[in-house]
Amino acid sequence: MTNNFLLSVVIPVYNEENNIDPLLKRLLPVVKNYNFEIIFISDGSKDKTDEVIKSKAKKDPSIKFVSFLRNFGHQKALTCGYNFAKGDCVITIDADLQDPPEVIGQMVKKWQNGAKIVYAKREKRDVDNFIKKLTAFLFYKFINFLSDTPIPTDVGDYRLIDREIVNFLNNLPEKSRFLRGLVAWGGHPASYVYFKREKRYAGVTHYTFSKMLNFALEGITSFSVKPLRLSIYFGFFASFFSVIVIATKSVQHFILNQGDWLPGWASLFFSIVFLGGVQLITIGLIGEYVGKIYQEIQNRPQYLIKEKVNL
Ligand code: UDP
Ligand code: MG
Repeated sequence: MTNNFLLSVVIPVYNEENNIDPLLKRLLPVVKNYNFEIIFISDGSKDKTDEVIKSKAKKDPSIKFVSFLRNFGHQKALTCGYNFAKGDCVITIDADLQDPPEVIGQMVKKWQNGAKIVYAKREKRDVDNFIKKLTAFLFYKFINFLSDTPIPTDVGDYRLIDREIVNFLNNLPEKSRFLRGLVAWGGHPASYVYFKREKRYAGVTHYTFSKMLNFALEGITSFSVKPLRLSIYFGFFASFFSVIVIATKSVQHFILNQGDWLPGWASLFFSIVFLGGVQLITIGLIGEYVGKIYQEIQNRPQYLIKEKVNL
């Protein structure tokens, strides 16, 4: 195989000042085998991340740097990376060394053998805590139940994609970007390489519980309208249930002359609360989709750039 191609490595960074050096120490020896560019996207970092990367970029023109005006989120940073990457294939990798750069060689090989997408799959999640493992498990189960596009499990945003798919992503008009789903949506043949997820090298995770919840909701609503339909079923079920209850109560009272109407407080209370809940869920779901439509037609840019180096 010839190595006559360009490999782009896109790294989103948000307050990762202490991870840049250790990451480059492991990444550079791997990518040196190819023509490469490394693109750091600083997602509104507030610590020394930007300075650290800029000093590296000054010494090495194949290290490139973009910084956002504020924090736009991981997915937008990846999107920006795809927009700037010139490579024949593009790898996205986290900055915190949870994704070991050493598997890049295998990923490139699979790509050279014809795979358009190569996912790095987490073999073990020993290092993640119970809550993270559980939420990730439920998330993938739930999203694959709802979504019309099967999304591979235990695959994060560590992947290689071919230029063809980069172009496809860049040309998509939609603003809402759940990249794991979008990459799978095209149905291109995918391959896997396996790795063991390591501990975060320095700093703490930026995915708080609320960010994970938002991410999950984003993933579900961007890839399926089934929740809307589910809420209809749920509403039907609730209404049907209350009709049954009323009917049995009426039979007891008028025909069998049993029971009492007044102590029915509990059932009344239950049905009001239950139906209220169903209505709130349904309105919330509709609101979620309406909000999505609103954001799409606002047509705002996905991110705003403060500074660029070597690009
Ligand atoms: N990240 C980002 N913007 C954010 C949050 C995270 O660019 O708003 C980057 C972060 O610097 C890291 C990657 O996305 O390189 C994954 O984030 P993190 O390690 O915090 O998430 P986890 O691995 O815990 O899911
Ligand atoms: Mg991480």
